[in-house]
Amino acid sequence: MAPGITDQLLRNNERYAAGQALHEPAHPGQQKIQPAKRLAVVACMDARLAVEDLLGLQTGDAHVIRNAGGVVDEDAIRCLIISHHLLDTNEIVLIHHTRCGMLAFSDDLLKAGLEGDPAAEQLLGRATGRRFTSCHAASATPAAFHAFRGPLLPLDAPHDDQARERLQWDVRRGISAILNHPWIPTSGPDAVAVRGFVYDVDTGRLEEVEHPGPMGSV
Ligand SMILES: [Zn+2]
Repeated sequence: MAPGITDQLLRNNERYAAGQALHEPAHPGQQKIQPAKRLAVVACMDARLAVEDLLGLQTGDAHVIRNAGGVVDEDAIRCLIISHHLLDTNEIVLIHHTRCGMLAFSDDLLKAGLEGDPAAEQLLGRATGRRFTSCHAASATPAAFHAFRGPLLPLDAPHDDQARERLQWDVRRGISAILNHPWIPTSGPDAVAVRGFVYDVDTGRLEEVEHPGPMGSV
């Protein structure tokens, strides 16, 4: 595969981390519908991630798909299929980040709290510093919240090696989900390249996650 634009994005990120503003506001409607950099980004919704800025992207350059965690869930896959097959993107960048809220709870804990488990309510309240108010009702949807695998951390806990490992596991799960999807070609003439990163909210820097690698163990 020819060298793509992701390496250029990493050079942009170095400048961003050093304090340069890279995203320039553009008049709306002047760009083509196809992303100019043929890029799709899947990133966490965290308010501290200025995705266009930290990658040095301009209006019209990329699809930016965001959700809690930046997880490659069914909806992200849906977006990536449309992005590639209909709108001509051929590089995918996954971005998780340090201090992510998805390290601070588990799917079971959040569901129990929402359904009315008083111990879960207390734990969630303590973790977030916000009184957790149960809805006292069960629901089949969402089927999953995709909280990251591993022992829970306090919300916004300082980054450490264990958190790094957990973030890397989930980035690898995302890369793996893309590589294994039958409708996202990652070899052959129509191949899409995929790379994954952890963004450090304290330094502004991206750290690449190698794949394959450990996927975590309970
Ligand atoms: Zn996050």
